[in-house]
Parts: sequence; C-alpha cells; structure tokens
Amino acid sequence: MTGEPHFGKVTLIGIGLIGSSIARALRQLPLAGTVVAADRSEEVIQRVRELGFADEATTDMGAAVADADLVIACVPVGAMGAVAEAIGPHLKAGAIVSDVGSTKGSVVAQMQQHLPAGVHFIPAHPVAGTEHSGPDSGFPELFHGRWCILTPPEGEDAAAVEKLAAFWQALGSKIEVMSPEHHDLVLAITSHVPHLIAYNIVGTASDLEQVTEGEVIKFSAGGFRDFTRIAASDPTMWRDVFLHNKTAVLEVLGRFTEDLIALQRNIRWGEGQELFDLFTRTRAIRRSIIDQRQDTADPDFGRGRK
Ligand code: NAP
Repeated sequence: MTGEPHFGKVTLIGIGLIGSSIARALRQLPLAGTVVAADRSEEVIQRVRELGFADEATTDMGAAVADADLVIACVPVGAMGAVAEAIGPHLKAGAIVSDVGSTKGSVVAQMQQHLPAGVHFIPAHPVAGTEHSGPDSGFPELFHGRWCILTPPEGEDAAAVEKLAAFWQALGSKIEVMSPEHHDLVLAITSHVPHLIAYNIVGTASDLEQVTEGEVIKFSAGGFRDFTRIAASDPTMWRDVFLHNKTAVLEVLGRFTEDLIALQRNIRWGEGQELFDLFTRTRAIRRSIIDQRQDTADPDFGRGRK
C-alpha cells in the first residue's frame, strides 16, 4: 500500500497506553500538522499538558474533532459507541474516523450508526501492547514491527484505506486487511483466550496461596510469573474485550476445554507419547514466532540474570 501518510489535524480520543504511544510517535515523525488529545478525564488532560506530547488537550470531544482530518478512538471497546455519538455531529466531510479497539465486530456495530455520510470509517487494531495503562505508559516505538489489522467496510474509498495504512506503516507497523468477523476469531485464539487463561490461573493460584503460605510467590519463576504479567493487564479494557467478543471467545473456549480434558485423560492413563507429541508440536510454534521476529529467542524472555 502506498498512500500519503500526512494529515493536517489528527485527534486522538482516549489518552492511555495506545493513544499516548501514537501521540509520542507523532512528535517524532512528520505525519500531522496538529495533534489534539482528548480524554473524558480532566486529570489525564492535565498530565498530557505536563508531558507535552500534544499541541492541544481537551475534555471537549466536539471541539477536539472539529476540522480534524483523522480521528482515532483509543478508548476501551465498551466506550466506542459513546465516543462516536459525541463526535458524530462535529466531524467534517472527508475525515477518516478510525479506532484501535481489540475487538472489531462490536466496534463497527457501535460506531457506524453515529457517523455521518461523507466520513470514511476504517476500523483498525494495532496488535501491540503491554500490561501498563494510562498516559505515562506509552512509548513511540510500541508499534515497531507489529501488525496493524484494518477492517474497512466493503466499498470504502480505497484511497482513504491506503492513507490510513500508510500512516500505520510510518508508525512502524505491518498491515493486514480482513473482515471484522475474521479478526475477532483470530484474536480470540491469539490474544483473548490466552488472557482469560492467565487471569484464571493467577486467580486459582491466589486462592491456593492461602494453603501454600507464600510459596506461590516464592517459586513463581517455575512458570507462574509469566502468567502474572498478562494477568496484570488493565481490568476495564479486558472486561470490555470479553463482553464484546463473546461469540468468538466462547467458540475458542469450547475447543480449548475439550483439548484440556483430552490432556487430563492422557495424564490419568499414562499416555506419554500423546503428551510428548503435543509438546513437540508446540515447541515448533514457539520457534516460528521467533523466526517471524514476534519475540526474542533469549532464555527466560531476555530477562537479565540478577
Ligand atoms: P488505557 O491505557 O486504559 O487508556 C484508555 C483511556 O481512555 C483512559 O484515559 C480512559 O479514561 C479513556 N476513556 C475511557 N472512556 C472514555 C470515553 N467515553 N471518552 C473519552 N475517554 C475515555 O487503555 P489502552 O490500553 O490505551 O487501550 C485503549 C484501546 O486500545 C482499547 O480499545 C484496547 O482494546 C485497545 N488496545 C489495547 C492494547 C493493550 O495492550 N493495552 C493493544 C491493542 C489495542 P479513564 O481512565 O477515565 O477511564
């Protein structure tokens, strides 16, 4: 894709990890004439002013998007409809409206109805993040080498799609285009269900902690602590993800539960070859993630020895 990535005025709504990472990247790259940061929280806006990564910062959504050429909603997915309703009447014709939400079908259903004709609506999901949140947690390199998935509605203006794709490429992302339904299924298995498993195992261990008296934390390097990083992710964001990708998550969870019961059976009946074969297959998946530069091959995820 080869669009021209520069926009006159870019408005970011919701200045947490993702919104503040985009804003910080725009400080370094010639992609926007003016960057406006909008958030519902006066405290966040005050912090944005202190950090100085936007030209303007406001809690007034209408004023923030007036004359904007690109508007990106960076709020939890459960808030996308309210944001679209607030900004809809203030958008200029020809503007591109996008988002960064981790689910896509629900975001389309919530936002599209509030957007006026003449505005290009191109949902997006940068598959990049950390377990941190808020305006202090962002960094400009967050999107480097990561995929950004675009889910443009059928018939959307190709030039607008290319322009948004070029914008994300300039932020360091690689682009993939797919339907919202396909996105939601792929992300259910690669992100949403893994997060649910981490939340569940850390919850179970925390209940057991009362029995083991401190040993769960003490011996956490045995594997548990890697789940705790994922399970420390923002509760609001993840509550919304599960409520808004219900169908695909329940579908994948059904398959996962069946496979878990098969493993339970392998262990009970001493079926070592089945266990060995699965663990060999999963080791090869780790290898391909490293080969595709989506993680480091360093032992212990690159943690230094201390
Ligand atoms: P975050 O750090 O929690 O920031 C979200 C910001 O949006 C907060 O400042 C929040 O304010 C504000 N907000 C909430 N509702 C709002 C509303 N109705 N109007 C205006 N502002 C509102 O979240 P994040 O991690 O950047 O995630 C933002 C979006 O990116 C989510 O849709 C998420 O699914 C997606 N995403 C996240 C990741 C990740 O790893 N974190 C990766 C890819 C995509 P309050 O503090 O007042 O609630």
